[in-house]
Amino acid sequence: MSATYNPMSLVGKAILVTGASSGIGQAIAIECSKLGATVICTARNEERLQKTLSMMEGEGHSYLVADLNDTDAMDSLIAALPKLDGVSHNAGIGQTMLTTFAKETAIESMIQTNLMSVVLLQTRLLKARKIRKNASVVFMSSISSHLSGFGNAFYAMAKSGLTAYARTLALELAAKGIRVNTVHPGMTLTPLILRDQLGDEQRDADVKNYPLGRYGNPEEIAHVAAFLLSDASSWVTGSRYFVDGGRMTH
Ligand code: NAP
Repeated sequence: MSATYNPMSLVGKAILVTGASSGIGQAIAIECSKLGATVICTARNEERLQKTLSMMEGEGHSYLVADLNDTDAMDSLIAALPKLDGVSHNAGIGQTMLTTFAKETAIESMIQTNLMSVVLLQTRLLKARKIRKNASVVFMSSISSHLSGFGNAFYAMAKSGLTAYARTLALELAAKGIRVNTVHPGMTLTPLILRDQLGDEQRDADVKNYPLGRYGNPEEIAHVAAFLLSDASSWVTGSRYFVDGGRMTH
């Protein structure tokens, strides 16, 4: 066995990681750096982006601060980017709200951040010719795109929309060799779910739905995203990857 053989190597690839200041996006940025990529991190919080950079391996990484709900900020971000071999879309928000009581502004914000801004960023990256031939685009969806759950209607709506969009994008970009896939995590221990007011009792009951008996860690999602960003997945496009401790089989 060769000590240097690694089909998941990202050496020579420039990869944009959104949502890189926290949780899953941060873990993906770190994992990509360990696999040799040059990573451009983006999010709104500069201090946390700096922390991500301090946890990365190798040289040449950078960060660009941008609120992706602000189209001018998005344009400035895109203008500052090099040509990309990979894009990992992770920026997102989570909030449970019952359909009857949900405030319209909260519904709009959920759809805006988790669907519209992601689609707009992807569209503008393509129009600005920032995505190279044979690149890989990975969208962070959720098992919620396939499961119903109390309080999850609007989050699920956004993630289902994103999943549907990604499937068609995969078809349209295949001629350029650009691959597009979605990752669907189950409950993963990041600030997003820790911020939610799920009580210990509810959480203990929910964990029982996971055949592997626990929630996931951000690094476990990052490994799958890195695989999809690498040439090890060169014949994978239009696919959905459930990374969920078996939750979807339950
Ligand atoms: P997180 O720790 O809260 O991270 C969310 C990231 O999104 C942060 O880096 C945040 O950065 C960024 N972000 C939010 N709004 C933004 C905006 N308007 N502009 C730019 N960046 C923005 O959450 P996470 O759990 O890692 O979630 C990452 C992705 O995984 C999300 O798409 C989420 O829906 C998905 N997911 C999570 C789980 C889970 O159980 N954790 C399960 C399934 C899917 P700033 O605050 O610095 O802007």
